[in-house]
Amino acid sequence: MSLLREAERCVANQKSHVALNAFITALQPSGQWREQVKNAALRTKQGTPKSKVDGRLIAIKDNICTRDLPTTCASGILEKFTSPFHATVVEHLEDAGAVVAGKTNLDEFGMGSHTVHSRFGPVKSSRQDLDTESLSAGGSSGGSAVAVATDQCYAALGTDTGGSVRLPAAFTGTIGFKPSYGLISRWGVVAYANSLDTVGILGRNTASVRDVFNVVNRHDPRDPTNLSPFSRSRIHSYLQSPSYASRLASTPLRIGVPTEYNISELHPSIRRAWSRSLAYMRKQGHSIHAVSLPTTKLALSAYYVLAPAEASSNLAKYDGVRYGTRYGGPDSDGQSEGNLYANTRGYGFGSEVKRRIVLGAFSLSADAMDNYFIQAQRVRRLVQLDFDAVFRTKQPLLSPGSHTESAPNHTGVDILICPTAPSPPPRISKLINSDIAASPLDAYMNDIFTVPASLAGLPAISVPVTVSDEHQDSSDAGLAGVQIVGQYGDDELVLKVGELLESRKF
Ligand code: GLN
Repeated sequence: MSLLREAERCVANQKSHVALNAFITALQPSGQWREQVKNAALRTKQGTPKSKVDGRLIAIKDNICTRDLPTTCASGILEKFTSPFHATVVEHLEDAGAVVAGKTNLDEFGMGSHTVHSRFGPVKSSRQDLDTESLSAGGSSGGSAVAVATDQCYAALGTDTGGSVRLPAAFTGTIGFKPSYGLISRWGVVAYANSLDTVGILGRNTASVRDVFNVVNRHDPRDPTNLSPFSRSRIHSYLQSPSYASRLASTPLRIGVPTEYNISELHPSIRRAWSRSLAYMRKQGHSIHAVSLPTTKLALSAYYVLAPAEASSNLAKYDGVRYGTRYGGPDSDGQSEGNLYANTRGYGFGSEVKRRIVLGAFSLSADAMDNYFIQAQRVRRLVQLDFDAVFRTKQPLLSPGSHTESAPNHTGVDILICPTAPSPPPRISKLINSDIAASPLDAYMNDIFTVPASLAGLPAISVPVTVSDEHQDSSDAGLAGVQIVGQYGDDELVLKVGELLESRKF
């Protein structure tokens, strides 16, 4: 299909799927995008495309800054904010000829697992159960996932702090990739929890995700946590050494199955998808090994101490004076209508964000610091050590010197395969109807399998697979997300294994 026709179809889909609420700012049918796509089509015809995404429509999560469209973070506090600059990732995409396909809906500031905590209303998945009830799109990048699933864009950027790209991918049947922490620039990405925030990519297949990744995976001196060119080339030469370069190409993989992930709460359809994926990989000649990640059971609690702690600090600047929409406070005659900070923050933030601010402020307070924040940091270190103990490759950033000389851990595994989420998506009505709504803890539970890779900064991808002999409880029963996690820097291997499993029917 021609680039222009593809783009026109996406824009038409944005209009026809408006009820799904995937976009906060969608494209105007008469907008500039048409010219941009036409130019790209011409370049492609002449054999000089700028990149593999030249002329492709890429949706941007609305916590990533764009110069021409507002960046609201789905919050009342940034309701009218337009950034004076593009985030580095948006700059890279535009330089590569991609066209911004609009700004997608999210949980406010990225906090949530179902994209129901948005000032602009919840996102609905296009998936429904047999009673035609809409299912959760996952969160917090639910808008990006639904936009991809319903062909409203070619691919989308999301952010993944504890699973926000992978969970929506699993719930919508799309691919969601969270690269190693520090590979993609966070400059211009509104911070939720800096030490965990990672820009991720959603697409309908791994090939499109890789194409976007190749464009944005570049050093950015403006982001101090971004990997330096030196570290990048060190990782590259380590993984190009003969013991690793042949993985998948000629050497079968050693695949790890973390036993701690086989929890009793695992939904039977998810367990089936997991075991059939492993059986498939074994049939392809790879070997399967049980591994133990003993700190897994503490990871979720540690995450929900650390992420709110960083959030409460990050969000302190939205006070109506330095940043953010001002609500209440003194009027032009100097008459006070209450406290400016309280009004601004009370009205501007939604309930989930307020909960995180209070949680974070508590765990950072003098009385609680040692028991919560410091303990959680220790757990985070143990989670990282657990992963390092099972992988064949070493954490390339931790051990100085040339890795090419260090002996590989022969009993280690190349990759881990596990579920993305413990259960299929719940109904939206169950999440937003206050009479039957589940507690916040139930939403936090969805992140149990995604959070460990975030705490360790590892690359991970969620790919959809379908298992056939399901009890029919939804129109596409048996669709589940399988997660592949690799050692730090092993992003290419994660993508390759994703490619092997994506959209398999077992
Ligand atoms: N659901 C998790 C949270 O609410 C993860 C969010 C994310 O990755 N942005 O914090």
